[in-house]
Amino acid sequence: MLSLMSSFIVLSLAGPAHASAPSDGVLPAPKLHVVIDPGHGGVDKGAARGAIRESHIALSVAKKLADRLRDDGRFAVTLTREADVALTLPERAAIAKRVQADLFVSIHANASEDPRAHGVEFWFQNQLPADEESLFLASRENQSHEGDVRRGRGAAVTAKSDVARIIEDLRRNHRIASSGDLSRTLLAEWHSKARRRNKHAIRQGPLFVVSEVHVPSVLVELGFVSHESEGPRLTDPGHQSLMAGNLYEGIAKFAAAVAADRSR
Ligand SMILES: [Zn+2]
Repeated sequence: MLSLMSSFIVLSLAGPAHASAPSDGVLPAPKLHVVIDPGHGGVDKGAARGAIRESHIALSVAKKLADRLRDDGRFAVTLTREADVALTLPERAAIAKRVQADLFVSIHANASEDPRAHGVEFWFQNQLPADEESLFLASRENQSHEGDVRRGRGAAVTAKSDVARIIEDLRRNHRIASSGDLSRTLLAEWHSKARRRNKHAIRQGPLFVVSEVHVPSVLVELGFVSHESEGPRLTDPGHQSLMAGNLYEGIAKFAAAVAADRSR
């Protein structure tokens, strides 16, 4: 799978966009541009239980992850929002496109009617019929996009030529494969630090925000705000730093694997 995704990353790394001026005649390695997308915000609080808000957890962890990636030196970072403001899903995808993102990581927290539900989940886009649970989550995380769908995105798609559609399909298949690799790398890193493992932590669903971004993308559900102990823990700054650290380590491993694959 790595060879599939590397062609995409090489394409986006080839541009001069992220290179800084060399001081010793050797071109510095281009920085991998990671767009971090804290879910929800403003009037859209996302999942909530009591005073616990998904939108706040997502922003806080996103900022900590941004700090870790910037400290590393190998990454350029853009946040889709840096304050508690509302942003539509197309606006988030447009930011990734504008800054020529190499990776896109959307950060969320979950909720369930089942009080036992807990644990991290990494979602990436699929092409397969989604199971019922996927549709449920997709409808929740896609909520702020429903208006845009009704305004006729479908018409623009059908206007494309057959060749354009075939190329789009190929690109989508590559992107899905590389997003799957990214998800599995993040999960492996997360599990290496966790006391408990979640067997169903890799999920696929028709998620608008990751499907509209044309680079490896993942939507992370950090945990369940509805769980008695996990919910409050998600708001704890120390635990948020640990989660951000897990995500940082996973992204660094993914980037290293891509670089190694490229130089082979
Ligand atoms: Zn969410």
